[in-house]
Amino acid sequence: LAYYFKQIKDKEHLNAFNEVFFYSAEVQAKAIQQKIDEGTAGKLAGMVIGIKDNICYKDHVVTASSKMLEGFVSPYSSTVVERLLQEDAIIIGRLNCDEFAMGGSNETSYYGAVKNAANPELVPGGSSGGSAVAVQADMCLSALGTDTGGSVRQPAAFCGQIGLKPTYGRISRYGVIAYASSFDQVGPITSSVEDAALLLQVLAGADEHDSTVSPLAVPDYPAHLNTYKKQKIAVLKETIESDALDPEIKSAILASIEKLKADGHSIEYVSFDLLDYLVPAYYILTTAEASSNLSRYDGVHYGHRNTEAKSLNELYKLSRAEGFGEEVKRRILLGTFVLSAGYYDAYYQKAQQVRRLIREKMDALFQDYDLILSPVAPTAAFKIGDNVQDALVMYMADIFTVLPSLSGNPAIALPLGNNEAGLPLSIQFIAKHFEEDQLLAFSQAFL
Ligand code: GLN
Repeated sequence: LAYYFKQIKDKEHLNAFNEVFFYSAEVQAKAIQQKIDEGTAGKLAGMVIGIKDNICYKDHVVTASSKMLEGFVSPYSSTVVERLLQEDAIIIGRLNCDEFAMGGSNETSYYGAVKNAANPELVPGGSSGGSAVAVQADMCLSALGTDTGGSVRQPAAFCGQIGLKPTYGRISRYGVIAYASSFDQVGPITSSVEDAALLLQVLAGADEHDSTVSPLAVPDYPAHLNTYKKQKIAVLKETIESDALDPEIKSAILASIEKLKADGHSIEYVSFDLLDYLVPAYYILTTAEASSNLSRYDGVHYGHRNTEAKSLNELYKLSRAEGFGEEVKRRILLGTFVLSAGYYDAYYQKAQQVRRLIREKMDALFQDYDLILSPVAPTAAFKIGDNVQDALVMYMADIFTVLPSLSGNPAIALPLGNNEAGLPLSIQFIAKHFEEDQLLAFSQAFL
């Protein structure tokens, strides 16, 4: 623990932590030491973990990196935190992220941008940018992020780490600040597949507090890591041939495809004709859900409250105007618009129909293949400030990650080494619903 505290101090300029839990982490470490001495310690004994600042931990502040929740102390712990603690992990602090997990560069945080440890002029990706950098810069062993449309996988990719988004419904969302409830999943960012497997095993499984969690039994993921078999892999042709894809990422992926073939996997290129619909469907549905989820921040029940309002309406308006940042406001407006009478059918309902088609298309592909291969992001990490002016450029960059978010499939980002400028490159594999065991075993062999 002392080692990680020092690392955090030495790398403060990266701005990965919103708060370090010095006191509670020390207390936990002492208690765990005693359990280790007595031989009663849990599966994660002594594993030092950072949590994204949208995951509730009883008696600790949680802000979603928003002014709206500045100083808000959580009265209860999320299920994921409960499970970490039960297995004797040490929670070292809460990690910076995009405000309410809305973003792909960690630049929308009220607490400032996070910097990529590979080059501090660059973004770490987002929204779980602090989680990725904390693991990248060895400020904790592993971290939890949340992934609605890529927020675990894309920052892991930008920081050369492993990022797993489990199947929708694999891990409880209880106590995780909601962005878009039919997409949100907690996922680990780690430097090894073993750690991802171990964390998933601890976090996954039914929870009486979240009825969307599957009752399916949780496999022993770490034990499955060696049950490796040859895979039938579909490469999404349009993603590899996309003009938006950076040539260095393309050639790194093509080289891995050759290696996979040489290793005896079967690879086929398949067409995915719904590619152009992914980003629009994702942003219509997630902003709609967000506009509803974020209506609870009204200046009365939670968070920031304006002190000069003369009426209740004014209190709502001013508190929300002051508490939310620009990107969050943009999404609340967009979501309210697509849900409003007269536009609901044209946008929200259409997007739901498109989501269904995407899901059907994915299910059909998984009749014939074990895994689907695509890039994670079209580019490597970019300069801080470069894309903040253009929301659409940021949204379009989510094109490859939102696919499994729309269909609910599990997906993993795996590092492919660095480009010439020393920046991490990455590849994404998507598996069948609830086949994280296969996905992790394959990933272990792939790396
Ligand atoms: N970049 C995507 C968005 O802004 C993904 C965010 C996320 O997964 N939380 O919505």
